[in-house]
Amino acid sequence: MELSNLVIIGSGPAGYAAAIYAARSNLQPILYEGFLSGAVGGQLTTTTDVENFPGFPEGISGPELMEKMRTQALRFATTLLTEDVTEVDFSTYPFIIKGSTTTLQAKAVIIATGAVAKKIQVVGSEEFWQKGISACAVCDGASPIFRGKDLFVVGGGDTAVEEALFLTKYAAKVYIIHRRDTLRASKIMADRVLKHPKIEVLWNRELQEIRGKKFVEEVVLYNNALKKSEVYKGSGLFYAIGHTPNTAFLRGKIELTEEGYIVVKKGSTYTSVEGVFAAGDVQDPVYRQAIVAAGSGCMAALDVDKWFREKG
Ligand code: NAP
Repeated sequence: MELSNLVIIGSGPAGYAAAIYAARSNLQPILYEGFLSGAVGGQLTTTTDVENFPGFPEGISGPELMEKMRTQALRFATTLLTEDVTEVDFSTYPFIIKGSTTTLQAKAVIIATGAVAKKIQVVGSEEFWQKGISACAVCDGASPIFRGKDLFVVGGGDTAVEEALFLTKYAAKVYIIHRRDTLRASKIMADRVLKHPKIEVLWNRELQEIRGKKFVEEVVLYNNALKKSEVYKGSGLFYAIGHTPNTAFLRGKIELTEEGYIVVKKGSTYTSVEGVFAAGDVQDPVYRQAIVAAGSGCMAALDVDKWFREKG
């Protein structure tokens, strides 16, 4: 079994940034970039233009940005394995990492498997994905297709209210579609949307259908108080119903929060298992931005390097 200094699991901005830094520290990292899930490059490969990643004043497409990070990781001698990790064993040292076709031993591991935004499956949700439907207002909200239009945000938590407030910069009106009659969001944030002249909360509504020709044009909502369906016109719909961190393969092997995020020591990337580090959205329920993920990937590589030096 090959013994690697460092195995990085995940190929979003966190994984690639960790690989670039680790490779430049001569750690010769091996990075599992995923395959079966079609997830190479992570969440950014499912978005269109990225306009908030510093260094690209004209914007850059999500897939192109990830391809550039991948190329940069390869330039500094990272070995990429295009397969999913199916199992890890942290109870033995060196750790054992099993991929779909390979098994490796690792002296250190960085987990950067990211998270996926939860979506709602209704008629039209697949057809209009990225054609008016998004799961990130901060990433996509400024797109011309949303400017001056009526938009919908689904959810009632802090993300939903934050996204709704963000979208008011561009939208004519923002409807929050919430399945209950009270918001889950913190009071201060909830008050802000309830007072906002451009935001209206559609209480007790559930998404039933998304319609349009080429792009989203209207949504059908089920009013669960009045027990009837209603149609609202609008050009964009943003899911804000939470994220699921990709940690199913880590259950029972490392400390996770109730929601499944990896617990890291404050201000670092150290996890509950010595020698295992975590970076990016898999340990970040709050910021969830590519630039933050890339920053924490850098932190993880620096933490690994420091840990090796301390260990001698
Ligand atoms: P969340 O707090 O879990 O809220 C998810 C919302 O989506 C809930 O209102 C939920 O409805 C709704 N929802 C879930 N599944 C649904 C479905 N299938 N159909 C319709 N609605 C559905 O998630 P979040 O807002 O992403 O926040 C996650 C964590 O990050 C929270 O701890 C939050 O406080 C934190 N956060 C903090 C900030 C900040 O401090 N600035 C910003 C964003 C997030 P119900 O209410 O009926 O369950």
